[in-house]
Amino acid sequence: MSWINTYSEIEKRVRKAGLKLELVEWGIANRTGDRIILNKNVLKSPKYCDRIITHEIKHTSDNFTIHDLKMDMVEGELFDNILFCIKHPFGLYQFSPLIYYNHDWLFDLNLCIIYFIGLLLITTFLMLT
Ligand SMILES: [Zn+2]
Repeated sequence: MSWINTYSEIEKRVRKAGLKLELVEWGIANRTGDRIILNKNVLKSPKYCDRIITHEIKHTSDNFTIHDLKMDMVEGELFDNILFCIKHPFGLYQFSPLIYYNHDWLFDLNLCIIYFIGLLLITTFLMLT
C-alpha cells in the first residue's frame, strides 16, 4: 500500500471525527483545536500512522485537560517515536514544547508538565544519593 492510500484512509477518519488534517515536514503529530498536524513521513509506516492518528483523534480540542495529560503520559509511543526521529531528524521538533509554525506559536503544555515531573524525579534522586 502506498502512502497515498494511507493518506486518503487517514484523511477520511480525521474528517469523520470532525477534524482537519494538515501535512508538514517536521515533528510527528500534534493536535491543536480541530486540526491534526502530521509529519507526512509518518504516512510511510501505515501501522505506526494508524496508532498516531488514533491517539490524536482521542485528544480533546481543549487547551488543557487531565484526560489529555494522562494520554500523553501513558500512551506515548516513545520507542517508535525515537525510531522515527532517527530516520527523519526533523521529527525531533516533536520534543520541543514550543514551535513556531504558520505565524503562530504552538505550545505543548503536556510536554512541559512531563519534563517538569522528570526534572523533579531526577533532582529528588540526586538528593537522595
Ligand atoms: Zn498526545
